[in-house]
Amino acid sequence: MKRFFPVSQPSIGEKEIAYVTDAVSSGWVSSIGKYIEEFERTFALFCGTRFAIATCNGTTALHLALVCVGVKEGDEIIVPDLTFIATANAARYAGASVVTVDIEAGSLCMDPAAVRRSITPKTKAIIPVHLYGHPANMEAIMAIAREHAIAVVEDAAEAHGAEFRGKKVGSIGDIGVFSFYGNKVVTAGEGGMLTTDSRELYDKARFLRDHAMSPERRYWHPEIGFNYRMTNLQAALAVAQMERIETFIAKRDEIMQWYRDELKSVPSLRLNREEHGSKRVYWMVCLEIAGLNDARRSELMKALRELGVDSRPYFYPISDMPMYSTASTPVAHRVSVEGINLPSYVDLTRNDVAEICGLLLKVLRTMRLI
Ligand SMILES: *Cc1c(COP(=O)(O)O)cnc(C)c1O
Repeated sequence: MKRFFPVSQPSIGEKEIAYVTDAVSSGWVSSIGKYIEEFERTFALFCGTRFAIATCNGTTALHLALVCVGVKEGDEIIVPDLTFIATANAARYAGASVVTVDIEAGSLCMDPAAVRRSITPKTKAIIPVHLYGHPANMEAIMAIAREHAIAVVEDAAEAHGAEFRGKKVGSIGDIGVFSFYGNKVVTAGEGGMLTTDSRELYDKARFLRDHAMSPERRYWHPEIGFNYRMTNLQAALAVAQMERIETFIAKRDEIMQWYRDELKSVPSLRLNREEHGSKRVYWMVCLEIAGLNDARRSELMKALRELGVDSRPYFYPISDMPMYSTASTPVAHRVSVEGINLPSYVDLTRNDVAEICGLLLKVLRTMRLI
């Protein structure tokens, strides 16, 4: 039988099964339980922040973070044009308008110079996204934000464990946001997390996560909050995954090196780059082919799938979506159609990567792309 290599799949081991089973058997299946506290404690420790607050998914964590830093109707939020749609949608949930800026071709993250040009008196927050595991230039972005007294919410949904100049992503801005969707570096099934050093932001996030219920007076709600809680079952899975995160990250480094070795004979193929002294995590293997367009890329992905290799296109620019304003972002537009992500999960072996790259090179030659 022919093998099929998905782009991603979670690694579920004995610990995951044991902890989830324990959580179910305990009866604590909803949003109170020891695994939630344990997950928040270990995640704060991992990120080097004083606090961490778990939510039901990464999108709600983003929304909650924006509300906590005071985003309101009429504010503007700066986001990179190349990102997953949730980054922009969360800004809109908070009532803000979305200003998209161009990216750097190397890091694929927001270009600080473009951020600076987009600041207006209405700018309330910047959301740098550490795309595909590569940290944004946090030094430049934080300098701009401090100068204008603007909040920074890091979207680290794809970058658990990445570091910018020695600091873990999610610990640099006012709030960091993570996702634990099934294809992320570690998973809770679905899940999200806010990280912060601010006691005030932490208290506010906990309060709003649970319908803004008064800590002193049960069922008294002085404002409109949300139910963005995580369940103990999700947290049980995540706690098991957090015990293995360092091995996952190391294995992803190794897999990336295998891809580099297999594809180094074709210098026109661009793989993940490392910019501005950061330590990235290889959430996704990124392959860019100069001159590719959307139609040719679809052909390429179809041909790969027929040979048993799954791939996925880079994100489309947010500014091309019908709900958002168009933007002049030439780098995001060019890179967006040149890139695909290849199988990137931790259970891949050296031989799997050799087989995937052999098939890839065959397709690329047939299509005269190399
Ligand atoms: C996955 C992701 C999110 C949203 O997380 P969910 O848990 O899927 O809601 C937000 N931003 C980025 C960049 C992501 O990749």
